[in-house]
Amino acid sequence: MKCVLCDKRKPKRYCPAKRTTICPVCCGEKRGVEINCPLDCQYYVEGQKHHQQKMMQQRIKKDGARSYVRKAELYKHNPELFAHLEKGFVGIFRADKNLTNKDLASGLELAHKTLETEKKGIIFQHQSGNSYADEISNHVLSIVSHFKDNPEVGASRINLDFALLVVKEFLEEATFYMENDTNPKSYLIHLMRYHPEEEVQTPAESKLIITP
Ligand SMILES: [Zn+2]
Repeated sequence: MKCVLCDKRKPKRYCPAKRTTICPVCCGEKRGVEINCPLDCQYYVEGQKHHQQKMMQQRIKKDGARSYVRKAELYKHNPELFAHLEKGFVGIFRADKNLTNKDLASGLELAHKTLETEKKGIIFQHQSGNSYADEISNHVLSIVSHFKDNPEVGASRINLDFALLVVKEFLEEATFYMENDTNPKSYLIHLMRYHPEEEVQTPAESKLIITP
């Protein structure tokens, strides 16, 4: 018997999304990317933790723990802003899998530049000519504007300086993946694993109806 995904290796892991056993290599490479993993799959959850720890250790070695403390502080102030930004990046990536860490970093850099210009009192949106980077930048600026200029967001409201810090944080993280991970899409995959597609929830819901 062979793994249904690669038709090469021995299937050893039960995959709840495929409802059959697959090989550990396919599970490792495709989970959360080509496979719509449910959030209660232990391989998915453990794999997620493992990869994140690995990259975190590498980054701490290179940039020091300060980078993580800073991100945690910013996140604590406005988790909603982080979630909106990440979901947008993941949405753009899902729509076009050619997007890379580098495009994301370019887009974040562009948005940062536009926000810095705004800080000087000039409203001017920088464009790059790279359509991916422009799309990322547009997304960042629209989310930032939603939280910055819209009084209805209440306690989640941010100022321009906070927006600049958050965008810089994403830029540094994306740049780290870009420079240190051999997979050119690794940061996007990492984010995508945190934001699974909504439709994954449907089979899990039906499970709850089972009577004891
Ligand atoms: Zn396989």
